[in-house]
Amino acid sequence: MSQLFRLYGVFCATHPWEVIVAVITLTTCLLTVDQKQTDPDPFAKKPQSCPGCFEEQFKAVDVIVMTVIRCLAILYSSHQFRNLQKLGSKYILGIAGLFIVFSSFVFTSTVLNFLKIDLVDLKDALFFFLLLIDLSKAATLAQFALTASNQEEITSKIARGMSILGPTITLDTIVETLVIGVGTLSGVHRLEMLSYFACLSVLVNYVIFMTFYPACLSLMLELSRISNFYGEKQPVVSKMLLEENEKANPAVQRVKLIMSIGLTAVHIHSRWFIKEDNTGDDSNTSANDAANCADDSSLYGFLMKQFALSADHIVILILVITLIIKFVFFENDDHLKRQIESVVRIQEEKKDDNNSHVLKRQPRLVKSDSVNEEKEVQTISAEEIEGLEEVQFRRSLEECLQIYRSEGASKLTDREVILLVDTKHIPSYNLEKAVNNQERGVRIRRQIIQANANCEDALLNLPYKHYDYTKVMGTCCENVIGYIPVPLGVAGPLLLDGKQYYIPMSTTEGCLIASTNRGCRAVEKCGVKSRIVADGMTRGPVVRFSSIVRCSEVVEWLEKAENFAAVKESFDSTSRFARLSKVTARVAGRYLFMRFVAETGDAMGMNMLSKGTEKALLFIQKTFPEMEILSLSGNFCTDKKPAAVNWIEGRGKSVVCEAVISCDVVSSVLKSTTQALVDLNISKNMIGSAIAGSIGGFNAHAANIVTAIFIATGQDPAQNIASSNCITIMEPWGENRQDLYISCTMPSIEIGTIGGGTILAAQSASLDMLGVRGPHEDSPGANAKQLARIVCATVLVGELSLMAALATGHLVKSHLKYNRSYSEKDSCEKADSQECCKT
Ligand code: NAP
Repeated sequence: MSQLFRLYGVFCATHPWEVIVAVITLTTCLLTVDQKQTDPDPFAKKPQSCPGCFEEQFKAVDVIVMTVIRCLAILYSSHQFRNLQKLGSKYILGIAGLFIVFSSFVFTSTVLNFLKIDLVDLKDALFFFLLLIDLSKAATLAQFALTASNQEEITSKIARGMSILGPTITLDTIVETLVIGVGTLSGVHRLEMLSYFACLSVLVNYVIFMTFYPACLSLMLELSRISNFYGEKQPVVSKMLLEENEKANPAVQRVKLIMSIGLTAVHIHSRWFIKEDNTGDDSNTSANDAANCADDSSLYGFLMKQFALSADHIVILILVITLIIKFVFFENDDHLKRQIESVVRIQEEKKDDNNSHVLKRQPRLVKSDSVNEEKEVQTISAEEIEGLEEVQFRRSLEECLQIYRSEGASKLTDREVILLVDTKHIPSYNLEKAVNNQERGVRIRRQIIQANANCEDALLNLPYKHYDYTKVMGTCCENVIGYIPVPLGVAGPLLLDGKQYYIPMSTTEGCLIASTNRGCRAVEKCGVKSRIVADGMTRGPVVRFSSIVRCSEVVEWLEKAENFAAVKESFDSTSRFARLSKVTARVAGRYLFMRFVAETGDAMGMNMLSKGTEKALLFIQKTFPEMEILSLSGNFCTDKKPAAVNWIEGRGKSVVCEAVISCDVVSSVLKSTTQALVDLNISKNMIGSAIAGSIGGFNAHAANIVTAIFIATGQDPAQNIASSNCITIMEPWGENRQDLYISCTMPSIEIGTIGGGTILAAQSASLDMLGVRGPHEDSPGANAKQLARIVCATVLVGELSLMAALATGHLVKSHLKYNRSYSEKDSCEKADSQECCKT
């Protein structure tokens, strides 16, 4: 059956003009045929109207009932159109729906005219017709055809659509006609007429759908393509809709078949009986009519007539309501609604990238069932592949390889690309380049990882869409499978050097930003002063000599000004901004460690230092050819490891900040006293850290603030190690020593406003908030220095707040409140933790 409908579809789509002209010609013939030769009135069952009958007396009832029917019909049509809109393309599908309604009505009217049925009697037929027409199939076919990108594809898609929809529609039409046909046996004249009309409508609608519609669709899409006015392409939607149809429940189909056989038997039986009765004596009918008219005068006759007339309306109303209930609640629920819901769900899932359709690692090889099928998959467009994770895999490895080598992996489906990755023809790290689409590359890698993960839904909540991967690939991250959203909060305003700043902080530690914010309030009057005391990123390679003698000679050689100048020249030649300021040398046996220190403008400078150091080493090697370069980094830098050298010598920006907080503010905002804070600072940050053998950790929680700002502004978060080096000093201040002096000294803030993660959009936004994004236009390095000052000042206010919380014993309460809101909030709320984290 499917094959038959497919071939028919191919014919309609390839010969649209012929089909259209044939249908119009036939219609014109029906209109112009000599009606004298036709059966005078095939439906002439209308009883003679009797004078004085009650129809005219009950026009009011007629009007009310028919108004309700019309309203319902209109409401139902609008409901249908709303559903069409939910399917996707508003306009194309709307037009397809209107087109099929209009054409079916015109053609039905033509047939009625041919059969000489008085249309005046059928003034309500249009509304009835609206209730019968099924737009969803027409829309589905239109939508599926819309995914085609060329004329051959249009043909193959219409053919495929017909092969899927054809059998279903044919069976539905048969069942519908037979069911409605029961109405023609009711004996109620008006209902019979409407039922005849309905049956005709259903049949004509079917003929139109099978002939005129696919031909027009093919022509319309071809013209659209030529004029480059294609509708919205929604491959996922169409694919899903079609597959829903494909999955038509065989049990339902069988029930429909049995129903149609039964109903056919009912029709044959009923008509045979009517015929038998009628053959008896026609005069009986007239006699009965006459008797009926005579009875009209009696009360019984009056009541019966009234009931008969009202029954007519009531039956129609019941029928219409039944139809509406059937369409809205059953048909929609079971079919169209289910389609819509599944499509909407899938669209949402794709949008949110829940990626719930997990692909198994082993691609499913489905054998092609026909030549056309094969061709259809081979010509599948890149747009269609995009977003289609459930495309059936149909091509062999050899075919995929051939396509990959000739046209690139962008022409393959996701499953096919995964097959090439599995068979080592495409390296997983190179997916983005292979498919020439970064987001698609990420998506495919996720599928591979997800198939291997222990949990199928492992990546369900990891987003990857709507991200600018152009700034990530080759710069910030490899083997990308998405991005981790971390909340970003703001603390402030922070008054620093006379200017207010709102500090972006990215963290998952509840209470941190609230606490920092309180610190900002503590300095909102006095403000924080800051200074940069040194600037120099470092790189410390390790080299080796044959003896300690040559090793120590190099140290002496480097100390001479002219030699340093030559090395500097070599170093500086590698960058417009990196400027070598110092080389510190340390000997360990025959090993020599040189620490190159350079200013790096607005960049954090690690790459710049590496580049310059490499060049400088090669220059030194010219004078000392026996120098063996063991590693460009000999851990004397020291990068991303705790080391005293950074604490003592400094690395990156060395910053110092101070503030004097009045005793009023200490008590009103920090809920503490100067004496308590100073005492605590000595016992905790000085003695405690000394006892712990700390290097650079003479503070309460500098790393908290440093890391939150680092993540927010795109710094290298691993550099929080040295960057968090800080000594917090607190002293009583003022004449009566009631005010609080606080300073934070941070000698190694490794920070930049250009390069690394600072270029990413969200991180750039944070830098913009602070007015330090990118390179400083007039004074290279000024932005990075300013950012370092902001970090140090924020650390200072963070220190104030946490120290106050500890001094007053509020730390645990406030942490429970802000970290365990899901379980312990109630108990925590009882404690007055407002003191510490009040914002
Ligand atoms: P970078 O992005 O590698 O270099 C900065 C670039 O910006 C240079 O090309 C520089 O020009 C240019 N630039 C333009 N205007 C500038 C200005 N006003 N100031 C400074 N430079 C300016 O950045 P980087 O800071 O050297 O390195 C940061 C990256 O290194 C991060 O991704 C980090 O994760 C990574 N990293 C590397 C290592 C390592 O060992 N290599 C260690 C840790 C981190 P020029 O070309 O003229 O210099």
